[in-house]
Parts: sequence; structure tokens; C-alpha cells
Amino acid sequence: MLPIAIIGFGKIARDQHVPAIRADSRFDLVATVDPHASLDGIAHYRDVEALLAADTGVKAVAICTPPSVRNTVARAAIAAGLHVLLEKPPGETVDEVVELERLAEEAGVTLFTAWHSREAAAVDTARDWLSARAIDAVRIAWKEDIRVWHPGQEWILEAGGFGVFDPGINALSILTHILPEAPLLISARLSVPRGRASPILATMELRSGNAPVSVDLDFLQEGPQRWDIEVDTPDGPLVLRNGGATLSIADVPDPASLNSEYPRLYARFADLIAAGESDVDLSPLQLVTEALRIGEHVETEPFAFERGTV
Ligand code: NAP
Repeated sequence: MLPIAIIGFGKIARDQHVPAIRADSRFDLVATVDPHASLDGIAHYRDVEALLAADTGVKAVAICTPPSVRNTVARAAIAAGLHVLLEKPPGETVDEVVELERLAEEAGVTLFTAWHSREAAAVDTARDWLSARAIDAVRIAWKEDIRVWHPGQEWILEAGGFGVFDPGINALSILTHILPEAPLLISARLSVPRGRASPILATMELRSGNAPVSVDLDFLQEGPQRWDIEVDTPDGPLVLRNGGATLSIADVPDPASLNSEYPRLYARFADLIAAGESDVDLSPLQLVTEALRIGEHVETEPFAFERGTV
């Protein structure tokens, strides 16, 4: 079993990483690293330096911090000879992850940019079906309530927090995985609340070959939540719902299989380590950093997690 530590012990670490690691016989969770949070019965360190100075035998880390500190932590882990799984988004910029890839290669360790939504139950079937087809048009609606899914996570609207692209990059990770031709950004419009640095709403226009792709990201969605991708083809529409968990093709529901995104991520991480390989895909991050760079920025009314406080 490979001794592994989780760095950044927040919501996703507790909800998904701990159960997935514990269910995988190839990993042994030996430590958590977080300024405050810890897990009963598991060694706890306040920062990566303290982890690396301790005698834990750790060989791999899963970095689940907010993206703004991920690169510093990842460089320290790679320099110490550890295999690294990066939660999405893998960094704040494309260049810093390219550098990590080089450093990992030089150190002879595995670097894995984990895109959990690509492991959703119906994504592989969608990719296989689309691989032999022409694409007429694509529409993405990724609409969730920030107050429900990210309560109190102020960092998400700060610089480097990605705002609505934090969930939206999941849609783009599926899109870049299932379309036969890589989507290219044409334009974007970003709505940033006054006093914040990252968008709370965003629209993007892309194209895949000649097919138009529209993306509608909304962090203020109340009522039914939507994580949908619709692809028009000459053989009928392919529709992925629930973040890639369910699928219909030409209006016929595909039999649902078990959704197990994080167990699949850890299985892949173990396979990569065993093979001495890395898996670094930056295409979703590239689309987001381009949208943040060339998109029209519009200021909107202030946002507070607690209603009525602005
Ligand atoms: P979170 O609940 O805010 O957890 C992040 C944790 O990292 C916090 O406990 C934070 O501590 C800690 N941290 C900050 N700086 C650190 C450092 N230098 N070293 C060690 N720990 C540090 O955020 P989250 O929702 O788990 O999201 C974390 C990442 O996972 C994000 O990139 C997000 O996109 C991704 N993700 C989230 C979800 C989700 O549904 N929440 C799903 C999939 C992926 P303090 O709070 O004390 O600063």
C-alpha cells in the first residue's frame, strides 16, 4: 500500500477523497495537512513543510487546497520526491502547471491533473458515441447555487478563485474530453460582483470545428440545479445531465451505471504511479484562463454569502 497524505482538508477532501482512498487497497491514508482541520486517528500537520519534516513514510499527496496555494504546495511535494494528484483546477495558470510537469519528470514522480467530472458514469459512453459523428451544435448549462454548494468559501470569489468557473471548469473538462475536435474560445462575458475579483456569472461562445458551442455558467441558480450538456448531431441529440452521470441518446435514456468519480480517479492515480507515468491535461484550464483574459468584464451588484449583509 502506498502511504498518502491529503493536503487541504476541506469539503471535497472529507466528502470524496477520504472515502475513495479508504476504499482503494493500493493507498493508505497516513496524514492530513491543513491550517486547522484534521481527521480523528490520522496524523495532522499544519503545513506541507511540517509534513515533509516528519517521519511519516508518505509517498504521495492529494492536493485539495484552494487553487491559489496549490502550486507552492505541489512544488514542495515534488521536490521531496512525492507523487502528486492535483484537484481541479490544477493551478491558477497554465504555465505554472507546465512547470510542474517538467519538475515531476525531472524528479521521476507522477503528476496527475485530476478532472473528476470526466470520471462521471456516462461520460465515456458519450465520448465513444460522439467519436464517429459530426457535431452540429453544443449547449452547456451549468447552474448551481453558490450558497448551497460552497457556503462561506470566500476564496472562490477572490483573485485566483475562479468564481463560477470553479464548477464551470468541470463542464469544460467533459466537453474537451467528449468532442472529436478541440473547442476553441471565441468570446466570453463575465459578471463580477462589485468588490469581488472573480465572476459569479459567465457566458462563453466557442466552436468545435464549425459547430457553435455555447456555455452558460450561473452561480446564483435557485430551485432546480442544472449541470447539462446537449450535443446536436445528424443522428439526434446526445444529452448528458447531472454533471455527466446520466445520458440520453436520440431521446432514448442510456442505462445508468454507478457514478464513482473519485474511486476511478484514485484507481487511475495508482495505475499511473505503478507505470511510472504522468497524466497532465491542461485543456479545460486553458479555456478558462483565456475566458478570464479576453472576456468582457461587467460589474454587477455586490454578493454576500449571508443574505442581506450587503
Ligand atoms: P474548502 O472547503 O475551502 O477546503 C480547502 C481547505 O484547504 C481549507 O480547509 C483550507 O484551510 C485549506 N488550505 C488552505 N491553504 C492551505 C495550505 N497552504 N496548506 C494546506 N491546506 C490549506 O474547499 P473545497 O470545496 O474542498 O475545494 C478545494 C478544491 O477542491 C478546489 O480547487 C475545488 O475546486 C476542488 N473541488 C471542490 C468540490 C466541492 O464540491 N466543494 C468538488 C470537486 C473539487 P482554511 O480554510 O483554514 O484556509
